[in-house]
Amino acid sequence: MDHGTAERFTGSFTQQEPIPEAGIEAAIAVLRHGRLHRYNTAPGEIAETALLEEEFAALVGAKYCLAVASGGYALGCALRAVGVAAGDAVLTNAFTLAPVPGSIAAVGARPVFVEVTQELTIDLAHLERVATDSGARVLMLSHMRGHLCDMDALMALCDRLGVTVIEDCAHTMGASWNGVPSGRHGRVGCYSMQTYKHINSGEGGFLVSDDAEVMARAVLLSGSYMLYGRHRAAPPVEVFENIRLDVPNVSGRMDNLRAAILRPQLALLEDRRERWGVLYRTMEAGLADTGGLRLVARPEQEVYVASSFQFLLPDWPEGRIRALIGRCAARGVELKWFGAPEPVAFTSRYEHWRYADPVPLPQTDKVLAGLIDMRLPLTFAPEDAALIARIIRAEVQMVLQSGEEGAATLALGD
Ligand SMILES: *Cc1c(COP(=O)(O)O)cnc(C)c1O
Repeated sequence: MDHGTAERFTGSFTQQEPIPEAGIEAAIAVLRHGRLHRYNTAPGEIAETALLEEEFAALVGAKYCLAVASGGYALGCALRAVGVAAGDAVLTNAFTLAPVPGSIAAVGARPVFVEVTQELTIDLAHLERVATDSGARVLMLSHMRGHLCDMDALMALCDRLGVTVIEDCAHTMGASWNGVPSGRHGRVGCYSMQTYKHINSGEGGFLVSDDAEVMARAVLLSGSYMLYGRHRAAPPVEVFENIRLDVPNVSGRMDNLRAAILRPQLALLEDRRERWGVLYRTMEAGLADTGGLRLVARPEQEVYVASSFQFLLPDWPEGRIRALIGRCAARGVELKWFGAPEPVAFTSRYEHWRYADPVPLPQTDKVLAGLIDMRLPLTFAPEDAALIARIIRAEVQMVLQSGEEGAATLALGD
């Protein structure tokens, strides 16, 4: 086809919105006084970090919240806090991002992967089977790319099996299932505030829980130097007294600069969810009924925050997928493919995590072989999403008609 006259997208798939002015001002105030460490406070002052924890706990209706250095740190801290030890098996989704199995490996435990469905959520039947076979007592449930499984069914299953659930909510901050905020079904909910997530401080993470002892251990682990009394969204000091000499300090604290940047963003989450929803539904509408392309169904119990968009090209040969990705890239549309034999940037899949010695998962292989992923930054306007969908649709039709198979080389994005 003639690329000279074809529509082209010129926006950036990696450009997020700037930090709101209130966050910039609060950050400058912290820089001016210099008390960046969360426990460095003037008499009578309440640290930005402690306030952030209190505000996030209120937002998701949790008793306790701890802010930490990253989402990956939050996951590892949660595993330790619920008692995972070296050598333990920990269940997790086969379709997730590298920091999830990485957090399990970091505590010396062994990831055991569970199959993914065509709806990109954990396969509950397979979960039951591997939970029973492996004897694992903990599930690190990753709501990968913001897709929530039937959380009522999952919690009923895990309760029946005696499996403790930790939720990886890196892509579901602000989302909910049946009215319950994501991160509030399991024992611990973990979030990320890395630049590509729903609020942005470059790096950062949260743990939330209603379990006093688990949260006291998490606070001690994060490096509280016996200053846990200065937290406002932590359990009462009595809870710490019995355990404070038994929990190692594995420093991973949040600092007041990042907390200052984040606090004003909490109030924006709802508006961001609405705007992401508009972009997502514009993409969905633009790609509806495209032959050869399958959209992911979104259950009505799910309120999602669509910071990314996925679709499937079921049973497409590899060469044809490469051809499509190459043609879209030539028109400015950056697609990521989870079926690539070698990991590209963020897009790795379970068999690339060789340290975990993964067993083959045929259902997941089939889904990931045709899984296409793209970012949907809020710097896109709805017209951008409509244009991107038009380009993908036209190129899918073109590739299917021409039977083109691809010499096209994959663009190495971020
Ligand atoms: C980003 C991410 C994490 C962890 O985040 P970091 O803050 O980068 O450590 C965990 N799980 C998923 C699915 C993610 O995308």
